Amino acid sequence: MKTEIDVLICGGGPVGLGLATELGRHGVRCLLVERRTTTSLQPRAKLANIRTMELLRRWGVADEVRRRAPLPADHPSDIVFATRLRGHELARFPNALSTARRDGDPFPEPAQQVPQYVIEDVLRERLAQQPAVELRRGTTLKALDQRDGGVICELQDEGGVRSTVEARWVVGADGARSTVRDLIGVEMRQLGPVTPNLGLVLRAPGLAESHALGRAVHYWIVNEEAPAIMGPLDGGEVWWLQATAIPDGVAPESIDVARLLEQAVGGPAPHELIARDPWLAACRIADRYRVGRALLVGDAAHVHPPMGGYGMNMGFGDAVDLGWKLAGVLAGWAGEVLLDSYEAERRPVHKRVIDEAAANYRLLSNDLVVEGLEDAGDAGEAARGAVGERIVRDKAREFRSIGVQLGARLRDSPVVIPDGTAEPADPGDSYEPCLRPGHRAPHVWLEDGAALYDRFGGEHALLDTGPDADRGDWLAAAAQRGIPLRVVHVPDAAARAAYGEGLALVRPDGYVAWRGEAAAEPGAILDVVRGASRAAATTAAEAAR
Ligand SMILES: Cc1cc2nc3c(=O)[nH]c(=O)nc-3n(C[C@H](O)[C@H](O)[C@H](O)COP(=O)(O)OP(=O)(O)OC[C@H]3O[C@@H](n4cnc5c(N)ncnc54)[C@H](O)[C@@H]3O)c2cc1C
Repeated sequence: MKTEIDVLICGGGPVGLGLATELGRHGVRCLLVERRTTTSLQPRAKLANIRTMELLRRWGVADEVRRRAPLPADHPSDIVFATRLRGHELARFPNALSTARRDGDPFPEPAQQVPQYVIEDVLRERLAQQPAVELRRGTTLKALDQRDGGVICELQDEGGVRSTVEARWVVGADGARSTVRDLIGVEMRQLGPVTPNLGLVLRAPGLAESHALGRAVHYWIVNEEAPAIMGPLDGGEVWWLQATAIPDGVAPESIDVARLLEQAVGGPAPHELIARDPWLAACRIADRYRVGRALLVGDAAHVHPPMGGYGMNMGFGDAVDLGWKLAGVLAGWAGEVLLDSYEAERRPVHKRVIDEAAANYRLLSNDLVVEGLEDAGDAGEAARGAVGERIVRDKAREFRSIGVQLGARLRDSPVVIPDGTAEPADPGDSYEPCLRPGHRAPHVWLEDGAALYDRFGGEHALLDTGPDADRGDWLAAAAQRGIPLRVVHVPDAAARAAYGEGLALVRPDGYVAWRGEAAAEPGAILDVVRGASRAAATTAAEAAR
């Protein structure tokens, strides 16, 4: 049996589900195939960062994800370093990871501690309400063949029955061992070493009450026997533990879990093992993200150590960037340049995050152990004080990465029109909202209490903060090109303070594509932004400068 579809997404992990959600919102007919029939209870990602929460809000599921997060809402997101769970405290980062809501935050949604499987469940349920999307679990992509403006995909169900789907586009969201990537002949470039680690999920009754470090989300355990990171997965008895940088010659599978836990805790810890998940810390990036009509997103295109919590989060960014562009191509208003801009925009973001994650992984609990760290008396105190100072100095950036999350700039994008202003600094651990094209549009709470972002909708938005709302010339130019455009007129003091008096063209993913005066020529601008052609892009970009 042969089915015809616009997009086949291979892989129903968080990124594939995110891409299907984005495509479904644009009405693109897609089929998502996932070889597993159950959700893994191994909570690899446990942090949905600020940017992800913004995107989940945009998809209408942020509240539901928060509601289902197993840690109680009042659970502090402190990160504590200690010699053992029942040992000496070394350092503490209160409200790490930006999970608390604060007045004046430059974002509408703080980050949320929530296991990856909860987000996957919520997205899957939402997809069931999107008529354009079909989700087929227990189905594996086996082969693909690009020909005649389409891709013939061979699928196999759990019973071994094969079927064929003809898709106009295929996206590999199939993780670090991507089948799509192999089938289209894309190589992963290895950057740096590969190091084994062991993840565990445990039920440990009484553990939370058995220590004096207070409630936190991470406890970094700094001792020679069991350097590790651990934390509660819910408000009850379930914990995760990561034994990091396992030494050469020790097979992660052979590690005695009871002993490891006892050494990390600093005493007996009754428990039941729920899951064991050995994983490799490595940095790899695909040498291309697209071959013909097949593209790669998420871990299929880039992997890095999880320190800093970027993998799934960055993958959602890929899903949104690619999703609206692919929808534009399928709707006929976009040119090839728009699709090329996916790699041009995302690769620098990926490289930057890979560098951050690699730097984070270079300073683990393993590297913080010093002689006499657990000794009683002044010598022990002095050793702990020195290590604590080092942690505060050298680890803060990992837990305060707001600039890495929100400060990405689409520097080399062919579909963003520079305004001639100089690029501001990009420190990574702080963030200043910026109106320049290629930056995330500033967040504003409007006078009526709504978030400006919620007014943008899912397509291009022309933001006008001035008194005159007649943008008929823009709407006519957009209609002529078939590009969906919403004029968002907000003569609101808060919006004017953030955006000034001019106009700003905001893309579906919330990045500013152009800003300028009302007198600008809309057609030329829209032609660049929709990637109508490289030549047109250059000319219009020059014209608009
Ligand atoms: C210990 C650890 C902690 C982490 N913590 C965080 C964190 O806090 N925050 C964060 O953002 N990230 C974190 N990550 C990274 C995060 O888990 C990954 O980046 C994320 O899962 C990638 O999502 P994905 O959808 O691209 O790939 P995956 O989650 O790997 O999903 C790919 C899917 O494709 C399916 N598939 C594969 N081949 C086929 C095929 N041929 N046909 C059909 N289906 C197929 C697989 O079954 C799988 O379900 C962590 C990772 C680890 C190891």
